[in-house]
Amino acid sequence: MACVSYPYAAPVSQTLFDRAAVVTPGGVNSPVRAFRAVGGTPRFMVSGAGPYLTDADGREYVDLVCSWGPMILGHSHPEVTAAVQAAVARGTSFGTPGEGEVELAEEIVGRIGPVEQVRLVSSGTEATMSAIRLARGFTGRAKVIKFAGCYHGHVDALLASAGSGVATFGLPDTPGVTGAQAGETVVLPYNDLEAVRQAFAAHPGEIACVITEASPGNMGVVPPLPGFNAGLKQLCAENGALYVSDEVMTGFRVSRAGWYGLDGVEPDLMTFGKVMGGGFPAAAFGGRADVMARLAPAGPVYQAGTLSGNPVATAAGVAQLRLLDDAAYAKVDAFSERLRSLVTEALAKEGVEHRLQVAGNMFSVFFTGADVTDYEKAKAQEAFRFTAFFHSMLAQGVYLPPSAFESWFVSTAHDDRALERVAAALPGAARAAAEATE
Ligand code: PLP
Repeated sequence: MACVSYPYAAPVSQTLFDRAAVVTPGGVNSPVRAFRAVGGTPRFMVSGAGPYLTDADGREYVDLVCSWGPMILGHSHPEVTAAVQAAVARGTSFGTPGEGEVELAEEIVGRIGPVEQVRLVSSGTEATMSAIRLARGFTGRAKVIKFAGCYHGHVDALLASAGSGVATFGLPDTPGVTGAQAGETVVLPYNDLEAVRQAFAAHPGEIACVITEASPGNMGVVPPLPGFNAGLKQLCAENGALYVSDEVMTGFRVSRAGWYGLDGVEPDLMTFGKVMGGGFPAAAFGGRADVMARLAPAGPVYQAGTLSGNPVATAAGVAQLRLLDDAAYAKVDAFSERLRSLVTEALAKEGVEHRLQVAGNMFSVFFTGADVTDYEKAKAQEAFRFTAFFHSMLAQGVYLPPSAFESWFVSTAHDDRALERVAAALPGAARAAAEATE
């Protein structure tokens, strides 16, 4: 951990955090929110409007996290809010089919060619867990290939990572995941097609699917090298395995049709979450009709959910997706580009070695002099510089993801005023990064 002092106080957040720590493990309901990677007091937010968040101490921040991706229209968008209010007034959960589910499914199928049918769930984790089960049920095979540094939610089998460099079989990375659960997972280095080829050769007829983030954002932004996704698709097709593209983060964010809209490689199955829920718990998996037909009640692979297709969540998702036309994406892309050039300029001016890596309008900064193409290279960055950078930005009212291994997110609501506030904060933060020591 870098030597960073926290001269600015957040007493109300600290009091809430202390209370939370009594009744909730670590004081949070999702680990990265606890600021452990950067230290200091997590900000308890009380409201959001457009590109801004306000914390419990009454301080306003330009939000460059956007709830880890979902809030692509900014906070409290009036049309999404109105749709949610109307849905709530009609009732919050029926446990029956409803029109909102059909509308959301049609919206997804209409945007993404390879998705012929889709099943709604409540979280990205559920989506990937169910997609893996379906891939296994469809192929009758057990093994799954995943890549080190790719996160697919906290699915037992997918929490496995590479372990020691030579390990090809996933070892459980966390207590509570058994060898049996992780043992069918083959973990390979990202962007390494040859490793995938060798894994197929080593396990003929055993691999149900390859799951990959369409463009990884969970080790920082590490886009696929040209031809990588197409190579995965081809190797899967040659070996009778399914190609599963996890677009929970990139879906409906980097284009109307997500990463698929940018690279055009057709997955057999895809997973979605975040943006499609409009800030509510809605997620999905979908793909080839012949594969989806294996899902209960049409087929034998069981999958279900009490709150799946919840009417409030689907109303929010439909409202948000309908507002996301080409003009909206052009706006998000343009803001992202302007922001990126300001970040690079500020860091370059202070002589801070860095790589700014981009996937559509998603990006992150690696404090390293080398291009980052896999998890090992991502981990080799000087993360202590990010810690200093982060706290300087926070003190100046800019809320970044509290980890050097996360994407930054912007929205259609980010405007000139928000950009000016970030621009004013950047020189100090770049200086703090330059002066940081381990
Ligand atoms: N897949 C990817 C690519 C993600 O980024 C995430 C969450 O960040 C998930 C799956 C899990 O989604 P959730 O947090 O909704 O369970």
